[in-house]
Amino acid sequence: MNPSLLLKGQTALVTGADSGIGKAVALALAGAGAKLVINYAHNHDAAEATVNEIKAAGGEAIAVQADVSHEAEVKAMFAQMYAQYGTIDILVNNAGLQKDSKFVDMTLDDWNTVISVNLTGQFLCAREAAREFIRRGVVEERSRAAGKIICMSSVHEVIPWGGHVNYAASKGGINMFMKSIAQELAPHKIRVAGIGPGAIQTPINKDAWETPEALDKLLTLIPYNRIGKPEDIGKLAAWLASDEADYITGTTIFMDGGMTLYPGFADNG
Ligand code: NAD
Repeated sequence: MNPSLLLKGQTALVTGADSGIGKAVALALAGAGAKLVINYAHNHDAAEATVNEIKAAGGEAIAVQADVSHEAEVKAMFAQMYAQYGTIDILVNNAGLQKDSKFVDMTLDDWNTVISVNLTGQFLCAREAAREFIRRGVVEERSRAAGKIICMSSVHEVIPWGGHVNYAASKGGINMFMKSIAQELAPHKIRVAGIGPGAIQTPINKDAWETPEALDKLLTLIPYNRIGKPEDIGKLAAWLASDEADYITGTTIFMDGGMTLYPGFADNG
């Protein structure tokens, strides 16, 4: 099938789509024929720039502001999407952030912020999407599934990460959240899957790649010896959301250049 048609006529919401991975995912889904809702928390101009890029390529998109950790804002965002497009076919739960510190110095505020955005935000958005998928059911001409939910996780779903305990706990939480709703929603023909990126070059991890020294250190953790690009994840998300991946549910696909292969053991540890 022509990859440009894989998501033809479908509506997709990508959270945190004004930057980094979310932006690349939105562009890839639009390139595959989906109509996009570009969610953003604060940066209206960046969200509009993503919308304009999609429109310039012949696609359809709107920008909708919402903090994904606030229930009322999430509900208002879905209402705005339904007013514009009528329904939803694909949700990409991408929004996330880090508030790093040594564990003993971590404030409750930094713990709560990361869990609220990275984990509770995924719950709030997935619940709204699942309600609509169940209400509407399968529309054969668009997809074999009633809906698809992609949860942006991380290699830190499985790799412990000292100094980032709140972040690692949120991603470990996403794993069981994703699997549990996949199990519950499969009978409704709803697919739920995770993407576990390794090191992808975005603003969230700038410290790890902006100097040659930092990049060299990072590359010791990546057997494939390059940092990932947001477009790598975009292509995977577009495929995972399509019927080409119709039998995939309840699992995380790691896209990490081998970061989860325990590279420290490559020469017998
Ligand atoms: P980024 O900082 O470029 O993007 C994060 C996005 O989330 C931004 O658009 C930001 O505005 C949005 N966001 C933050 N708080 C929000 C809120 N309350 N409501 C709505 N949106 C909010 O970083 P990124 O690397 O593109 O991160 C995207 C996702 O990928 C995150 O979930 C992150 O944990 C995950 N991830 C990134 C990497 C990496 O190496 N870059 C690796 C693994 C996982």
